[in-house]
Amino acid sequence: MSLRFPISGTTAAEANVQRPGMSLLVTGSIGIDTVEAPSGEVVDALGGSSVYFSYAASFFTDVRFVGVVGDDCPEGFLDPLQENPRVDMTGLEVREGSRTFRWHGRYHEDVNQRDTVAVELNVLAEVGPTIPEPFRDSKYVFLANTHPGLQLEMLSQLAAPRLVVADTMDLWITTEHEAVLRLLKHVNGMVLNDSEARLLTEMPNVVAAGMEIARDVQGPVVIKRGEHGSLLFAEGKVYPLPSCPMAAVVDPTGAGDTFAGAMMGYVADQDRSDPATLRRAIAYGTVTASIVLEDFSLNRLLVTRREDIDARLAEFQQLVAF
Ligand code: AMP
Repeated sequence: MSLRFPISGTTAAEANVQRPGMSLLVTGSIGIDTVEAPSGEVVDALGGSSVYFSYAASFFTDVRFVGVVGDDCPEGFLDPLQENPRVDMTGLEVREGSRTFRWHGRYHEDVNQRDTVAVELNVLAEVGPTIPEPFRDSKYVFLANTHPGLQLEMLSQLAAPRLVVADTMDLWITTEHEAVLRLLKHVNGMVLNDSEARLLTEMPNVVAAGMEIARDVQGPVVIKRGEHGSLLFAEGKVYPLPSCPMAAVVDPTGAGDTFAGAMMGYVADQDRSDPATLRRAIAYGTVTASIVLEDFSLNRLLVTRREDIDARLAEFQQLVAF
């Protein structure tokens, strides 16, 4: 698969087509990220689970964003979202006297391995944001990775969502185990990676782990396996999909959130979550994630157009059909 493709057509920001579609709400972290990778490093770059998610979802549908930064957040830091007409930033709170979440990660020579060098929860350890009244009727909801207590707090503010999907991570499964188990009872979908699924279920077999989580949440579960693709658990079946073969990876940060953003964006736009729709949504997640890792932060997504994603999807489809 080619690593680069021609850029043509409209970017997500330019494609201000306010289709009626179904509302997609996201809440999660907004991060000031420092990333060291074999290919280079960025300091104080735009990151955070809900940021990657929103931008990726905006290629497919309108997004309602809810999150908090501190008053230390640099001027213009969130411009890629603020200037994106498909992302409604009404739910952004700039909290006086608080500090923004910060994360510092370092990738190994094998970029599938990474260490967290430092994490400052700051605002993520405080009370969550208030979901604006007009957002409370959202039908599709993604609780991107953040403190599970905050995820539950967000959920309690929503009226009657149709599909609530959550992500989590090893840090929360280990330190907030009870809250993560409680979260599973209140969502009807999960997206998590293979090691997190094993940690959560204490099952070494990832297929068995996925089946158990799908039974718990009584809805679709996606287990991401990085360069090895993903598994979808839906209506009693398991659907495997490989990842796009990428010979060079600059920065995999946010690939999982980008995957989830494209997936949920497609689902919300289609207003369907049957297995056939989910399988196509996951294919979109796979190709959009393969784009974000070609550069640091959101840089690659910022110059991507929906047509580029569709072109890569068509190429991917040829590769996986036999
Ligand atoms: P991923 O590569 O999919 O794990 O996502 C990385 C993004 O998640 C980075 O941009 C970080 O700002 C953010 N992040 C890292 N650790 C946490 C955490 N404990 N809670 C919420 N977000 C986090």
